Amino acid sequence: MDEKIKVSGGTGLSSKDISSGKIFMTEDSLDCAYAWDTGVAINRYLSELKKARIIGTKCRKCKRVMLPPRLFCELCFIPSNEWVYLQDSGVVNTFSICYVHWDASRIGEGEKPHLPAVIEIDGASQGMGIMHLLGEVEPKHIKTGMKVQAVWKPESEREGSITDIKYFKPL
Ligand SMILES: [Zn+2]
Repeated sequence: MDEKIKVSGGTGLSSKDISSGKIFMTEDSLDCAYAWDTGVAINRYLSELKKARIIGTKCRKCKRVMLPPRLFCELCFIPSNEWVYLQDSGVVNTFSICYVHWDASRIGEGEKPHLPAVIEIDGASQGMGIMHLLGEVEPKHIKTGMKVQAVWKPESEREGSITDIKYFKPL
């Protein structure tokens, strides 16, 4: 694409201007190593995922079961340190049929679309859902309200991550 980009009041550049070295350009990669402390609630949540279990916390005042778990209820503003095991099944709250990758690049020709969805997990309060992927389902058969079940990675491959669940499949 060698067409000059029109810039009002400035000088347009072409890709040739860049490739020929007419303008100064440098490439670099930053060393952005970092550590992230998951905190008490998410640490337990991830540890339980490694054992193929989903855990939430319950507020003793409003009785909401929250997922992902948190150590305080943001409505009652009190500690919510009662742990509750939930089912590894749920209901599709919303979904998308996605023809782009996470970096917004288009998926390849013939590649199946990604199927991100918000799943309301059984045992958690209404509206408490997690974002995940659907699988073993044709996009045209997905419906909100559809019952789904987690498909876990084998124990040897689980590492304490939300991706320890491969996807949710229809029940
Ligand atoms: Zn509460």
